[in-house]
Order: sequence, then structure tokens, then C-alpha cells
Amino acid sequence: MAAEAETSFDLFIGGKEAPGTRGERRSVLDPATNEPFARAAVGVREDAHAALEVAERAFRESNWAADDGARRAKVLIRLAALVESHQDALARLETLNMGKPLRESRGDIGYVVRTLEYFAGLADKVEGETIPVPGARFDYTISEPLGVTVHIAPWNYPLLLAVRSVAPALAAGNSVVLKPASLTPLTAVAFARFAKEAGVPDGIFNVILGSGAEVGEALVDDDRCRSVTFTGSGEVGSRIAELAARRRVPVTLELGGKGPVVVFPDADLERAAKGIGYGIFQNAGQMCWAASRLIVHESIRTELLDRVRSIAESLKLGPGTMEGVEMGPLVSPDQAARVLDYVQDAVASGGRILTGGTRASEPPLASGNFVRPTVLVDVPSSSRAVREEIFGPVLTTATFSELEEALRLANDTTYGLLGTVWTRDLSTAHSFARRLECGMVVVNEAPITYPQAPFAGTKGSGVGFEQGRRAVEAYTRRKNVLVNLGTGKRRA
Ligand code: NAD
Repeated sequence: MAAEAETSFDLFIGGKEAPGTRGERRSVLDPATNEPFARAAVGVREDAHAALEVAERAFRESNWAADDGARRAKVLIRLAALVESHQDALARLETLNMGKPLRESRGDIGYVVRTLEYFAGLADKVEGETIPVPGARFDYTISEPLGVTVHIAPWNYPLLLAVRSVAPALAAGNSVVLKPASLTPLTAVAFARFAKEAGVPDGIFNVILGSGAEVGEALVDDDRCRSVTFTGSGEVGSRIAELAARRRVPVTLELGGKGPVVVFPDADLERAAKGIGYGIFQNAGQMCWAASRLIVHESIRTELLDRVRSIAESLKLGPGTMEGVEMGPLVSPDQAARVLDYVQDAVASGGRILTGGTRASEPPLASGNFVRPTVLVDVPSSSRAVREEIFGPVLTTATFSELEEALRLANDTTYGLLGTVWTRDLSTAHSFARRLECGMVVVNEAPITYPQAPFAGTKGSGVGFEQGRRAVEAYTRRKNVLVNLGTGKRRA
């Protein structure tokens, strides 16, 4: 308990940390042991309203929006440098809170740095345009920030996914209220401290902790909120879209996935197997873009599955804080139970476990939420394990003989986030990329993205996109100005 007292995380509103209206705090558990290691404030509806109030006042009264974008760029660059210089500490906090191996958390924090730098570079490039109109008139547009933007983040890449939308919103001159997931609130608060130190004016960046149902809805269902960026489950995404639609506020929704990974017989099987392992076992499979449905040509099925199985069985499981660990625990006992329930369901519907499918129960893993890397075969395509997002280290497999069959299987899902194709044939790669119903396609690589490339889902995976130069537009509105330059004489 002494360690808990030393590591307390509060709400961050108006540049100050405060425990919130009720002063309630809850324990934050290490998923590798389910022991508490920190305490986090629990915000309530009144705190959400206070954050929106402070953010709106800061938007009106500080110079953040009015200033030259180059000034905002400098602040964001300073923030990137501060995050970078504390990369190890932030990574450790993320790992303790979320469970992923330190190596992955370091990568996440590196991605945060790069995202801040990228959007800092765009802060002075939020431009309007001139538009030719008839006669002695001058028409131009101005891109203005929206005001208070609300960002609701999930627990699987806590800081990375928060900053992915916060960075362009700040670059465009908005003031921000961020709500991290209740399970993983810590790095958002640590980040807010750095934002203040970097020179983000008080009230421009606020973090509110608490439950989605109470605090999240209070943020979205309020006239001071001018846009919502939500990353999380489809169910909650629909609820948020409903609330935002009532108030005619724009939303960006980044939701779940059930990514196909299609392997043709001409693929480099060694690289493909490694990519498949990475695409489903990284972050213990808790990834929206997980490559979770293997669709393999019948002629290479046995060889590829042997390789993937041997990767799954060789992964070193353990607490993410232990050097050399390749797969950590799932984020919570509930998440582990949910994943194993899908495995049982797959077996009950006629599937077979090629490897994994159980908890890792040997010491010291027994008290944590460890599930072994799992490969399922012969699972009927109607099974829940094939149709629904498992969000754990579980790969299902299907076989094809013709390209059209592979395409049909790949697109046979309500999701459309990221699809992967492994082939050496350029024509197959490009035609497949065009015909996959996904927001993103990766050819001959495990799922990968960069802040400068759009991250988007289609079908049930989302609305709008993040990242890339045009992401800033989601946080601006366009105003048209028409000026009559004439002296009263009207021309056609
Ligand atoms: P979740 O939907 O349960 O929660 C996401 C966030 O929404 C949390 O901060 C939560 O507190 C909040 N929330 C919950 N109910 C709310 C409500 N009624 N109103 C407002 N906010 C509410 O999702 P999760 O379990 O944290 O994350 C896992 C899901 O996120 C998976 O489905 C995954 O695929 C998806 N995800 C998508 C992407 C992407 O970029 N497409 C990235 C990561 C995760």
C-alpha cells in the first residue's frame, strides 16, 4: 500500500491536479499480478462539466487559438522532447498499467513523440484557399479551430491512441478534454504534466478520469463539446454517435476489427509466418487491427501452420516489466475470461486447438491474466470466434484454393479495418488491395502504420480517419468570406 500512496494520479483540469468533486480514488492493478500499484482519482459528471467549462474559457481567453501556428508548433516540439526524454519512465508506467512488454511500450512512447513532431510541423500550415467567383469579388476561406474537442481513448495503447487525435487538435488551436479508459488512466495524467511544462496554456489540455458511462457521456452530451474523437468498441461508438448527432457535433469513430491475413502460395513463408505471429500476438492480440483471421492457400497450409505454431510456442510469456518477455498478460481478469470463452465456443462448434487455448498457470504467471498464444483450426465460419472481435492472442484459420474464394472469405465480415496480403505477385497484391473491404491494406508486412499515413476503418470499423496531413481538417471548420471589391457597378 505504501507504493500506492507514492503513485497517485488525479484529474488534470486548468493546469492543476485535483482529486475531483467526490475525492474518490481507486486502486490501479498490475495485470501481471492483479496487485495494486497506484491509485487514480475517479471523476464524476460534475468534474466533466468543470473540465469543459475550463477548456472553453481557455479557448476564448488564452492566445492558443489566436497565436501564430508556429508558436503552437514550438510548444508541441518541446512536448515531444519532454516525452522523449522520459520515454523509459512513461513506458514503464504504461507496462505496469496495461501489461504489454516494455519493448512494446517503448515503441508506443516513441510513436507518441513522432506523432507530436509530425503534427507540430502542420500547426502553421492550417490554410484556407482563394476561390475564383464572378465579377469584382474576392472569395476566400479561413480554417478555424472548433473550440473544445473531446477525445475518448481505449486501454490497449493508452497514450499512443490518445495523442493520435489530441496532437492534431492542439496543432489546429483547439482546447482539449481527454478521457482515458478507466483501466489505464496513468500515462494520460503524466503526459498532461509534460504538456504544462512544455508551455501548453492552462485549460487548453485537460484530462478527466472516470467511468465511460458517467464521465464519457457527460463530456459528449454537452453544448460546450464541439467534436468527439472516440476510439473503442462498436457498441459504445454507436452510443456516442447518437449523442453527438442530437447536438450536430462531428464525430470520428475508430472501432474494432477482424483483420484477414491472406497468404498466397508464392509468398515468402518464413517472413509471412513471422508477420502473422507479430500481427496476432503483439500486445497479446489486444489490437483493433489484429490480423486475426488467417486465410491460407491449401497447398501451403501445413507448412505455414507448422511455422506459426512454432512461433506461438516459443514466445516468452511473463510480466511486461521483465526484460526479454515477448508477450505479457491481458489487461484484466475479465478480458482473459472473455478470450477463453471464445476459445471454448470455437471448440464447442467443431473447431480444434492447434496450440494454446489455456491460461498460463505456472508460477509466477498464475496470479496474472496470462493466456497462451492460441491457434485454432477447422472453426466453422459461422462461429463467434470467426465473426466477432476476440481482442486476445487467438488466430483462426481458413483455407482457399482460388483467389476469388480468398477474397470472399476476407470480406465476409462486418468489420473493415486492416487487411494483410502475402504474395510476390504484384498484380495479385494490387488487385487484392483494391478489392479488400478495408480502410487499410498491408502487403508483405505485419500491420504497421506511421503518423503521416491515414489510419482508417470502413464498414463496422469506423467513421472518418486519423493521422496524415488531412487529419487536422477534422479539428477545423471552414469559413467562407466573400468580399465585393467593386464600386457598386455590378458585373456578370
Ligand atoms: P470501450 O468502448 O469499452 O471503451 C473505450 C472508451 O470509451 C473508454 O475510455 C471508456 O471509458 C469509454 N466509454 C465507455 N462507455 C462510454 C459511454 N457510454 N460514453 C462515453 N464513453 C464511454 O473500448 P475498450 O474496451 O477500452 O477498447 C477496446 C475496443 O477498442 C476494441 O473494440 C478495439 O477494437 C477498439 N479499438 C479501436 C482502435 C482503432 O483505431 N480503430 C484502436 C484501439 C482499440
